[in-house]
Amino acid sequence: MPIALIVHGGASEVPPEEQPAYERGCLAAAEAGWAVLRNGGAALDAVIAAIRIMEDDPTFNAGCGSVLNADGRVQMDAGLMEGTESLAGGVGAIEGVRNPILVARKVLDSMPAMVVGADARRFAAERGIPLCDPDEMITPKQRQKWEKAKQQSSASKKMDTVGCVAMDSQGRIAAGASTGGLSMKVPGRVGDSPQIGCGIYAENGLGGCSVTGDGDAIARVVFAKTACDLIRPDRAAEEAARQAVDYFQSRVAGEAGCILIDGAGRTGWAHNSAHMPVAYLREDVDAPRYFIAKREEREAA
Ligand code: ASP
Repeated sequence: MPIALIVHGGASEVPPEEQPAYERGCLAAAEAGWAVLRNGGAALDAVIAAIRIMEDDPTFNAGCGSVLNADGRVQMDAGLMEGTESLAGGVGAIEGVRNPILVARKVLDSMPAMVVGADARRFAAERGIPLCDPDEMITPKQRQKWEKAKQQSSASKKMDTVGCVAMDSQGRIAAGASTGGLSMKVPGRVGDSPQIGCGIYAENGLGGCSVTGDGDAIARVVFAKTACDLIRPDRAAEEAARQAVDYFQSRVAGEAGCILIDGAGRTGWAHNSAHMPVAYLREDVDAPRYFIAKREEREAA
């Protein structure tokens, strides 16, 4: 099967001065995942490799760049799904770990679909994932933004969640997402990212999808599964992505975007936000492609 991998850096508006960091981060993540696939590795491992890079990059709202909740704490969500046995694992509102995607992997390997809160951290520790002081996850930039938002009592959104979908040489598909969620969110809130069928979905032969944006609205339309169900063998994966965003807009209010790979290894992506940085690699493209918005890809074509 042709290998393919696509990552995104969140459905949001990226200020011009921050755009180079998004490009660097997305390309580094895509290349890390691609290296796994090129060496014959599994789609699931490629997704984890790509997401780890973005969790370690403070540019993105995931891992060490996560936004703060209404209490001024970092509570992160991450989810993973693989399409061979439909195994999935998620963590919600976890604190004090650097790479929530690694905890999601441990959850996927065990029985629960999702583990949340303080017990998710304990779950991680019991399985050998290194912990850190929860305050270490707060960057000065996010602290400043939080102070400002608090003064203005505004619940401004910051949607630079990260996600990845990959297909390996055996046709296995995997999808993942990791996020600090929405800034000023209600403490304990868990968004779409770790919810199966909402923020992530994967099914070999059909496709895989990872979603970003207003997670509470995304969950209500079961976005990722809906997008996969819109895939048709005789048309571009792009169409399923576009139709899923259209469906979202017809049912609920908010911003959203998705990346997907269909069962034939074709990539697709769509969003209704100003930007959604995306990088992808496929065997039929000579070098990694990066675009900050769909509009830009269309103009380049
Ligand atoms: N979907 C995420 C959430 O609502 C946020 C995002 O995509 O940036 O938690």
